[in-house]
Amino acid sequence: MRKVIRSEEGESLDIELDADLLKENERIAEENKKLLSEHGVVAIDVMGSVGSGKTTLIEQIVQRIKAKYKVAALDGDLNTTIDADLIGRHGVESIQINTGKECHLDANLVRKALMEMDLDKINLIIIENVGNLICPSDFPLGSSKRIVVISVTEGPYMVLKHPLTFARADIVVINKIDLAQAMRVDPGKLENDAKKVKPQLQIVRACVRDGIGVDEVIKALDLPSLLK
Ligand code: MG
Ligand code: ZN
Repeated sequence: MRKVIRSEEGESLDIELDADLLKENERIAEENKKLLSEHGVVAIDVMGSVGSGKTTLIEQIVQRIKAKYKVAALDGDLNTTIDADLIGRHGVESIQINTGKECHLDANLVRKALMEMDLDKINLIIIENVGNLICPSDFPLGSSKRIVVISVTEGPYMVLKHPLTFARADIVVINKIDLAQAMRVDPGKLENDAKKVKPQLQIVRACVRDGIGVDEVIKALDLPSLLK
């Protein structure tokens, strides 16, 4: 016997559900996008839980494309500069955004960071969101494409439990694929769950630490057409 208590629309005491706040965020995200395009810059953003492999994926992407594109990184984290330091090792501009208590980046914080950058010297910004798979998807930042990274170590239900995040993404990376058997997680099932949420999703199986799947993610981003 089990009971389920459901929160009704508007009932939750969560400021993130405040419609005005979300609208204002969307407005600023559009402004960010416009500002970026005026300078010939596109942004992509990467969402995923803590430990899913976002930073490692970004490092691998940066290493492969930095000779061809003028890349910079924005990195969201509550308090540390660990991730921005890791990405900065590759010789690209890397800015940490510390959100304090906020569990997601918002368009306003990104705008603040954009003001600190020389947008004429770059053409691609990769944004790493705060490690959390729930609310970041509610807050568009002004990016042109969104990547979601999940790892098989997070279990078999990541898609079913976060459908909205997947519905708002363009590319899904199923990471740490080498551990799938040990974790008894079927990547094919994760893939099917994701396709059910959004058939157009591009899905890449990867082990980003070993560089596996990274080229496929870059291909899925289709940077030449984004930067046209
Ligand atoms: Mg990270
Ligand atoms: Zn949040």
